[in-house]
Amino acid sequence: MKLPPRITAPFRFIASLSLVFSLSAMLDARNAAAFSVNTHRFITERALRGIIPIGNMSGLPEDSLINFWVWFGETSAVDEMKAGDLDGWRFRQHFPVPQSFAAAAVRGYLGLNFDVRRKITGLDTIDGLNGTERFDAHIQGSALPDLDGRNQDRILLDRHGDPMHLKSGRMVPFDPMTLNMGEMTGLSSQAHAHYQLAADKPSDDIEVLKKEPWNFVMAIGFPGPVTTYAAWMAQMHLDVSTLAEFWGHVKMTSAAEPIQVTWLAAGMHYVEDAAGPLHTVQIGSYELFKRAKLAFWAEAVKTCGGYCGTLPSFPKIGLGFLHNHHLMAEAWLEDQVYNAIAKRPAHPEIVKAWAAMDQDDPELMAALGDKLKPYMDGPTKPAPWEDGRGLATVLVETEAKLASRDGAALYEAALLAGAPTLTALGTYLPDDAGWHAEYLGDSKDPTVKAAIDTMARIQAKSLRRAATAVRIYYKALDTASIDASGRRLRRACLDNLEAAEKRREKYAANPPPDAVHVVKDPWFLAGDLLGFIVFLALIRLLIRRLDRSKTT
Ligand SMILES: [Zn+2]
Repeated sequence: MKLPPRITAPFRFIASLSLVFSLSAMLDARNAAAFSVNTHRFITERALRGIIPIGNMSGLPEDSLINFWVWFGETSAVDEMKAGDLDGWRFRQHFPVPQSFAAAAVRGYLGLNFDVRRKITGLDTIDGLNGTERFDAHIQGSALPDLDGRNQDRILLDRHGDPMHLKSGRMVPFDPMTLNMGEMTGLSSQAHAHYQLAADKPSDDIEVLKKEPWNFVMAIGFPGPVTTYAAWMAQMHLDVSTLAEFWGHVKMTSAAEPIQVTWLAAGMHYVEDAAGPLHTVQIGSYELFKRAKLAFWAEAVKTCGGYCGTLPSFPKIGLGFLHNHHLMAEAWLEDQVYNAIAKRPAHPEIVKAWAAMDQDDPELMAALGDKLKPYMDGPTKPAPWEDGRGLATVLVETEAKLASRDGAALYEAALLAGAPTLTALGTYLPDDAGWHAEYLGDSKDPTVKAAIDTMARIQAKSLRRAATAVRIYYKALDTASIDASGRRLRRACLDNLEAAEKRREKYAANPPPDAVHVVKDPWFLAGDLLGFIVFLALIRLLIRRLDRSKTT
């Protein structure tokens, strides 16, 4: 980012820095999967090759990371004395003394994992990226959100770092909204932050899943509207990166670069995720839903409704099918891209897309039109920020809208291309399964072949969309308004924090039912018994007829 000499003017609330507390110990940092991990790295490398200047980044002296976050807290706590803008005051209500904006609190504020024992790169550490080659740091950084678990296990912890529990013994999520996209812990607990649903008319009516699958959204873990955060995560990372760059200018330190790069690179992860259809639809497709329902019914009959065997619940079966096909499609794409890079046989659609990765995707460019312009006036100009939206939110939402229209088609193609084992009860692919040829059905089968072609065509589109979006995102740093970045980040973080608090109260007062993994259904038991009685009656009838025919 190139700044004119008077860099302090735009970020006005820093000017009144002296009003704030003394903050020396504000943050004690010392105590303190659309695409697979490799596909993220491949996309970033291919999209930004020749764009990022080659050379090593400056190193980060010890304590610089703490100094940055202390400064971040200081600026966020400043009043702006502007009518209607109470965000400095709001910030101090949450963090009344510097120590209250320490490591765990910063995580909660930014909407990240709350557990300080899990290190987040750019927040607690910069290990691995410190002093590395600049281009490589962006490539590795774009995989970070899948590796350091920053969006996983968002559980409310007490001051000792132990999970808080309700009287019933159930853990308290930091934000119950996360339960609408996955479990409270583990890989699926990061889905809320890596998905960007694109429903313009959200509905949980099954007819909508048939006709407009991108509009089908279900509050599966917490009642009310469902929110996903990939767009916000991309914006938040860009805003932190912009402020890190600015901090470097204010403090005249080159230590800013590794912090700025780490946040920008990690933000690319979400920009890439939203380009893939798998991260823009919640339930996938009606076909998948139907297949899961049939499997449930078949199992219910076999187990007398769960009274003479274990009957997995329908949601468990459905989510298992969804998980298997999601992972299979991601792993297949990674293998294809790897082959395309290594000049080994790969699907022609993927090879073609890979060769064109440095050319902007016309579909995304047309959909964006002039929408990004208001946010690109440069670091010293004001830009819109009040509604929490910025260049990255608009970019990610636009990508997600395009991608979501292919969501059901991609899941259906994966269903037809996939081996029957992927819809066998009890099959649950490990999260890091990687690619195995046996995940595909018989490639001589014309249906499987056509489905692989569809899978390739849709995924090829998403690769170019991701590369284009990442380039736009990378260049956004040069044109981002510092003032807007600071204000937007503070307003949105406070809004999210307060919304999560309200949702926690609701959750505690009326916890939604636990996910049911195994069920018993008396109707199927009755059906099985009835079937058995009818069967006996038929046998009796048959024996009688045989006896009669013998006597006559
Ligand atoms: Zn992801």
